[in-house]
Amino acid sequence: MAEILLKNAYVIDPISGINGEVMDIAISGSRIVEDASPQAEVIDCQGFLTLPGGIDSHTHTSGTKVNFGRYMSPEDMRAGRTAKKGHMHITSGYSVPTTYGNSYRYSALGYTTLVEGAMAPLEARHTHEEFKFTPLQDSFANTLFDGNWGMLRALEDGDIKRAAAIIAWTLTAVKGFAIKLTNPGGTEAWGFGKNVSCINETIPTFDLTPAEIIKGTIKANEILHLPHSVHLHCNNLGTPGNFTCTIGTFGHVPDVNDKRQSLYATHVQFHSYGGSGWGDFCSKSEPVANMVNFRPQIVIDMGQVMFGRTTTMTADGPMEFNLYRLHHDKWSNHDVELETGSGIIPVNYRRKNLVNSIMWAIGLELALLVKNPWQCLLTTDNPNGAPFVKYPEIIALLMSKRYRDAEFATIHQDTEKRVALPAIERELDWYDIAVMTRAGQARALGITDLGKGHLSPGAEADIAIYPIRINEIDPSAEYERIVKGFSQTEYTIKRGRVVSRRGDAIIDGENTTFWVKPKVPAAYDMQHDTAFQELFERYYSIRMSNYPVQEEYLHRNHCIETETDL
Ligand SMILES: [Zn+2]
Repeated sequence: MAEILLKNAYVIDPISGINGEVMDIAISGSRIVEDASPQAEVIDCQGFLTLPGGIDSHTHTSGTKVNFGRYMSPEDMRAGRTAKKGHMHITSGYSVPTTYGNSYRYSALGYTTLVEGAMAPLEARHTHEEFKFTPLQDSFANTLFDGNWGMLRALEDGDIKRAAAIIAWTLTAVKGFAIKLTNPGGTEAWGFGKNVSCINETIPTFDLTPAEIIKGTIKANEILHLPHSVHLHCNNLGTPGNFTCTIGTFGHVPDVNDKRQSLYATHVQFHSYGGSGWGDFCSKSEPVANMVNFRPQIVIDMGQVMFGRTTTMTADGPMEFNLYRLHHDKWSNHDVELETGSGIIPVNYRRKNLVNSIMWAIGLELALLVKNPWQCLLTTDNPNGAPFVKYPEIIALLMSKRYRDAEFATIHQDTEKRVALPAIERELDWYDIAVMTRAGQARALGITDLGKGHLSPGAEADIAIYPIRINEIDPSAEYERIVKGFSQTEYTIKRGRVVSRRGDAIIDGENTTFWVKPKVPAAYDMQHDTAFQELFERYYSIRMSNYPVQEEYLHRNHCIETETDL
């Protein structure tokens, strides 16, 4: 087996309790080991910052929605073209790049694992096919259940075990990883041209409220012992005054798992808005962050907005329709049969736009006001808030008050009265950043036992080595060096092989798709449940037997079997 010895690495590995230690790391095959033999290839890390490979716990890189974003924006495809170079394919696209574009650019930033934020079960094949051509990262798929009729009927009947069984069958069938709820109840209502405005409103098509859907799926999630918690895109995304809905939602979440959070709330920047309309729109990051600070059962990600062009895409169909009514630009909208919705709109976040400036501030405020970095992870909800290539700038903004002030001077002048950011002195440190970009993700996703997010012996050898000597940089003052240092690794190692070197991909990784298969007793096997079969026959456009994704669609895969309480 090939061996590598990384010499003189400056390691921050929060899960292993290492916070800045110059040490050697031995790799044998795909794993980290105690010692390497004298035959090992030696890489001198020169005291460079060495972290576990980056993990993006919420991004949109693969699937029908992403691909439609590519079709819709030929100007975006022209913006990000790179020529064939060595081993690397041609790439194109800036905010919605080709699969290789995503993979190479993430790898240059040191990322080795990606979670697709939203996979519609009915369209799962496309997602898996794109995972296959994202060769330098492992993939996980959040699977959409917000409008799943089988599950909603079971929840309406108060039958949590049946809801869990339907979730188990669906995740297994489509090779998904976690339960994703997008605007629960709202996307279901959107199939009939409606939406819901708060978590306690009964949805039009089932005798259920969003709060009941969220609580029911949290219970089902724990019955199935899924690695990750329910992954929620709250109701009312992007609406002034929506922070009350967000806080109300967090208040409903029970603390039911001692290993990880009970609820992961994504892109919370888009859900921390005050005001009664766009005229008095303002930040409400403080009450939202306070709620997180008092509730360890909640983990959030930022959903940071950065200025410039990007593409919004979400399963939240009604939200995208509202966005279209604001922008009057090109748009797409889609209802996925009995499951969920989707919408896509290209946008340009501008510094001179007051609303955009406030949104920019809110994401940073959340990361700075949530006290525990394990509870607020770094994302842009790529590409909704910004393309992920902006991550180095976000890291620098979080580490430097001076950088934030310099940027603040360039945005809409009325922003100051409506946000908390100028008053926040906190500057995050290297350890905080390591938590917010890999360790926190691994723990929140429940994948540390798979060897993700840490560098102890037995872990997967997914490692990012940045050309940063932390003793030689003052992040507060030299923020430009932070941006540069995190923009391109010296080496990115994926499963024990150097896949990227100074920004160039040099070989394809042995990427793997991870999916879950809850072990379900015969009485709860939906494959043989006549009522469930009938639902398919009556309402779906395809046969139940054609629905499951065959394993051949997955390039390499790792099935995580879970014991259940069914
Ligand atoms: Zn998303």
